[in-house]
Amino acid sequence: MGFLFTPPSPVTVPVVGLSASFPVHRIYCVGRNYVEHAQEMGHSGREAPFFFLKPADTLLVVPNDTDTLLPYPSATQDLHHEVELVVALSEGGRDISVDDALKHVFGYAVGLDMTRRDLQGLAKKQGRPWCAAKGFEHSAPISPIQPASAILELESAAIWLQVNGQQRQSGTISQLIWNVAETISHLSRLWTLAPGDLIYTGTPAGVAAVQPGDQIDAGVDGVGSIRLTVA
Ligand code: MN
Repeated sequence: MGFLFTPPSPVTVPVVGLSASFPVHRIYCVGRNYVEHAQEMGHSGREAPFFFLKPADTLLVVPNDTDTLLPYPSATQDLHHEVELVVALSEGGRDISVDDALKHVFGYAVGLDMTRRDLQGLAKKQGRPWCAAKGFEHSAPISPIQPASAILELESAAIWLQVNGQQRQSGTISQLIWNVAETISHLSRLWTLAPGDLIYTGTPAGVAAVQPGDQIDAGVDGVGSIRLTVA
């Protein structure tokens, strides 16, 4: 028995207030889940939810109160920020009802769905997958996870992102087209959800490019905030 080579270490995210960390299973992402962002991408904003995945090891954990380097990826000249509320599941299942969905949530984090927008535009034009546009190394920065029990008010919370101190994205969680419970329910009809799954729930309007040297600050009020410098 044994392995041919050393298996990869588990991917984990720290949890605020706990020494135990959150072991990651899969990263699901929701496309176009805020009306104004759907419109800025050229769509009506009214459609069934759709999903894509990022490999778990694309996470970049951004500890609180640190300035973390975000490596600028290869093969793009149009790296975009998308600030998102991230849902962390501690229970899985299939065909989860909307009413039952929030019982599966352990907590929430703030994340960035970094995107090679030029490669995404080409993929859309050619009818090809988004993997290279969305699933590259360090494409999923994430804050420590805040347990749901420690969050007083999520529905009305502000979600925001600044670059070099200038506001780029600003919205509230209540603007989600498909809310957290509906998103979990939809996902669970397509995949068997599992403890350790993360869901990036979509981004509000204002996505734009960053350049090496830019400083990104992003947060969801009451959940967390992160600071990154593009390297
Ligand atoms: Mn996104």
